[in-house]
Amino acid sequence: MKRTWGGIEAGGTKIVCAVGNSPEQIIKETRFPTTTPDDTIKQISHFFLEMQKEYEIASIGLGSFGPIDLNPKSKTYGYITNTPKPHWSQVDFLGGIKKYLALPFYFDTDVNAAAYGEYKWGAAQNLDTFVYLTIGTGVGGGAFVNGKLLHGLVHPEMGHISIPYFQRGDQKYKNNCPFHNSCLEGYINGPSLEKNWGIKGEKLLQDHEAWEYFTEYLAYGLINMICILSPQKIILGGGVMNQLHLFPLIREKVVKYLNNYVQH
Ligand code: ADP
Ligand code: ZN
Repeated sequence: MKRTWGGIEAGGTKIVCAVGNSPEQIIKETRFPTTTPDDTIKQISHFFLEMQKEYEIASIGLGSFGPIDLNPKSKTYGYITNTPKPHWSQVDFLGGIKKYLALPFYFDTDVNAAAYGEYKWGAAQNLDTFVYLTIGTGVGGGAFVNGKLLHGLVHPEMGHISIPYFQRGDQKYKNNCPFHNSCLEGYINGPSLEKNWGIKGEKLLQDHEAWEYFTEYLAYGLINMICILSPQKIILGGGVMNQLHLFPLIREKVVKYLNNYVQH
């Protein structure tokens, strides 16, 4: 049997499962909505059990939405912990999948998995310290520091760093985080764009005022990351970053607000 590897990207909205040997050699990929834990775990396992009929799967990497327990010594290792997502709080996600699949697993946050992908195959090859930040339904960051993925006490929560409030004219900008009232995610995630402007992000025109707010908040967020981790690069991904016209604006604001303090 041919040997290959498995990967699972578990998002709050959808799950992507794949087997393959590299991004150019994906043998099979499937995606489905994230429903109840039981149902989702069964669907994931079914995909790999079917693939095992034809391939020897060496191991599977599971990158999951969170918060998750990443401490292998903890009783709740592999669990989704206190998520506001209905049905998913305190769920043994990794353990549930392992009941079906007796394989070695690597478990990490979705954003750390993305960061690792960038390191191995993408925009962060040959770097030893960088950040991958996704801006979609939520905002989350994975960090690779001195050649290793960063976990720390639990795992970083870069979407929830506090950002100064910004106002232009009389727009009262709302933060949509259920936990905080001035965090990065609450200002710039897709749902926040929709809440503040009444239109989905993908429908906002390039010259819409929304992007002025968005880039302002994001630039402050990136400056915090630059000052804390000194990344050699920050990679921006996620649905909202399909707005490619934002990149020059973000760069400009980051440079401006850093005000030449970081010299390189
Ligand atoms: P997820 O976060 O669930 O993995 P995405 O990264 O695709 O998924 O993020 C979805 C969010 O991004 C939605 O709120 C959507 O409105 C927003 N979005 C998707 N595409 C665009 C786009 N081209 N421009 C702005 N916002 C977008
Ligand atoms: Zn928050």
